[in-house]
Amino acid sequence: MAEINRHYLKLKSSYLFSEIARRVREFSTEHPDAKIIRLGIGDVTRPLAPAVVEAMHAAVDEMARPETFRGYGPEAGYSFLTEKIAAHDYAARGVHIDPDEIIVSDGSKCDCGNIQEIFDTDSVVALMDPVYPAYVDGNVMAGRTGEAGADGRYEGFVYLPCTAENNFTPQLPTQHVDLIYLCYPNNPTGAVMSKTELKKWVDYARANEAVILYDAAYEAYIRDPEVPRSIYEIEGAREVAIEFRSFSKTAGFTGTRCAFTVVPKDAMGRGPDGTRVSLHSLWFRRQSTKFNGTSYIIQRGAEAIYTEAGRAQISEAIDYYMENARIIREGLAQAGLTVYGGVHAPYIWVKTPSGLTSWEFFDRLLHDVNVVGTPGSGFGPSGEGYFRLTAFGSREQTEAAVERIRTGLKL
Ligand SMILES: *Cc1c(COP(=O)(O)O)cnc(C)c1O
Repeated sequence: MAEINRHYLKLKSSYLFSEIARRVREFSTEHPDAKIIRLGIGDVTRPLAPAVVEAMHAAVDEMARPETFRGYGPEAGYSFLTEKIAAHDYAARGVHIDPDEIIVSDGSKCDCGNIQEIFDTDSVVALMDPVYPAYVDGNVMAGRTGEAGADGRYEGFVYLPCTAENNFTPQLPTQHVDLIYLCYPNNPTGAVMSKTELKKWVDYARANEAVILYDAAYEAYIRDPEVPRSIYEIEGAREVAIEFRSFSKTAGFTGTRCAFTVVPKDAMGRGPDGTRVSLHSLWFRRQSTKFNGTSYIIQRGAEAIYTEAGRAQISEAIDYYMENARIIREGLAQAGLTVYGGVHAPYIWVKTPSGLTSWEFFDRLLHDVNVVGTPGSGFGPSGEGYFRLTAFGSREQTEAAVERIRTGLKL
């Protein structure tokens, strides 16, 4: 037998969602008439925009004719897409990103998880706590940590607690770190970071030769033009930041799959002898070796979100979710709960009342009002005492859930 990668044995089982499913199943068996509403999902529910569907249909037809058939595409994505991204997502906000600096993929989860491969295994990684699990597991698999402790934290990571006390904005690390994962607007807390705060991180990275891995999957949910949508809105970020963006939450591509990663040509790492190496060339090499690209049809669909009709249609879906977010936020506040997020993000982060733990509050919501959410402790120890609700449900279900919480939850 071949010996396996022992680091995989350190991975914690994905206990969170299986435990939620188990508790809901048990409750349903005992209360078969209860109409359960799920506001725990982190997946979109609105269908693809008509402009996207139309573009995909047209691309399928092109594939059917010898004159317009396409085989393997360009490794970093078609220029019809990268040029639109550069123009609409960056130039329109005063940020220069060259289309060549954009590498199209089939998801930010994979890009966030895989990017660590281009860095040394001894790199010290800093993570927000609570955190999106893909950043964690990719680095555990690569052997950058020891075992997980009883509190769920892996030895070797530098955790950056994000709680109401620091406005869900972490403090700069007090020790040297090489890689810093930041996610804004944040999943699960729904928090955003101001330009002033983000600049502190860019300055830290420049002073300490660190690289920021910036997950902007929810940038389309930002309502305030003063809140940065891209880390490249901060001066100096081109040299120290890689940015991840996805069509998943922006345009409902969670099932269709399309995303991109920006690696500016100015971003450098250090070779063993101290020579400067372009991070862009390494990521390009990694992707062209291990990833076959996003299909032509899907890239045409993604391109269509930048048409006038496409833009109007996707913002309609985002408005729909953000109205749900408002209903949840205001309804829960009326019910006497303390709520965070939900203003520039589809996540509402609720402080559990009366000193309840995240799981105790989960059980109370399930039993008292038949509403399912996600215990904050499942995202990391600093999520204990919080609870995540999402705005991705239908309007009807969202309103019904909030009404039940307002009238039926005994605090
Ligand atoms: C949903 C999500 C993504 C996007 O993942 P895809 O693989 O592109 O669907 C990235 N980061 C966070 C934090 C997310 O919640």
